[in-house]
Amino acid sequence: MRCIPAVVTAGLLAAALLSAGDQKKDDPSQIGNRDVGKGVNFYSLEKEMALGRQLAQEVKRQAKMLDDPIVNEFVNRVGQNLVRNSDAKVPFTFQVIDGPEVNAFALPGGYVFVYAGLLKMADEEDEFAAVLAHEIAHVAARHMTRQATRQQIARIGSIPLGIALPGWGGVAAWQGAGLGIPMTFLSFDRRDEAEADYLGVQYMYAAGYDPNGAVSMFEKMEALERKDPGAVSRLFSTHPMDAERIGKTQQEINRILPSRAEYVVTTSEYAGIRERLLARDNNRKPETSTPHLKISLGAKDE
Ligand code: ZN
Repeated sequence: MRCIPAVVTAGLLAAALLSAGDQKKDDPSQIGNRDVGKGVNFYSLEKEMALGRQLAQEVKRQAKMLDDPIVNEFVNRVGQNLVRNSDAKVPFTFQVIDGPEVNAFALPGGYVFVYAGLLKMADEEDEFAAVLAHEIAHVAARHMTRQATRQQIARIGSIPLGIALPGWGGVAAWQGAGLGIPMTFLSFDRRDEAEADYLGVQYMYAAGYDPNGAVSMFEKMEALERKDPGAVSRLFSTHPMDAERIGKTQQEINRILPSRAEYVVTTSEYAGIRERLLARDNNRKPETSTPHLKISLGAKDE
């Protein structure tokens, strides 16, 4: 029997991860025909969707969801239009959390949550669409499960493969290692953030929005964060919005997205949705915001 040291295997896998970034992603006319989620991944799409469904149920148990079918339907419609113009291969749901935070996040497998505070901050529909498109891009590129895979590879470099293997693909291994499930899936490294920015503006463009809405939204978030550190939720500030990221997005728009005569910047329907939310705030007493979500899964194996 030949023994391959675990550390060598991990090295080979790491090399495969690096080459996975070589795919052509610069051509928006190829959206849907390119495998942007390619890369070493211990999760099948089915497993990823099941995991996302479970985490989404946990979010809905803990968060105060917005009880307004008109706003929810609108957000879902804007989101689905972007999904149709994306590389994503899973069905999506978009849901609104009733809280003032300027935040949105996507769980593995297509479960996107946005806070009402984000809609209030985005004055125009293209700015709101920019955040949804960014989150859709994280899912399309399968950043959550690829990152979890990378973490597992890093860990098996130091322990015998025979012990590590049974835990692959399951959540039990992370819990055993004391890793928080939320941060595993909700914080991204700089490269993944840059890729989500890059793909996100392409999806906006393909859906007919002005991709410059992403730049103005990023500028708003950066200004708010500078004025009131921590205002832009912790999840966004893992890799904070800064001048470099904004400049890079602007350059990419100029480089790969040929300008069009007309774009959707905003709509009267979007203005109506924002008025609805702002009117709700005026009609009710101030209340504390939704506490930080703590997501955990019960012990579970495959
Ligand atoms: Zn992101």
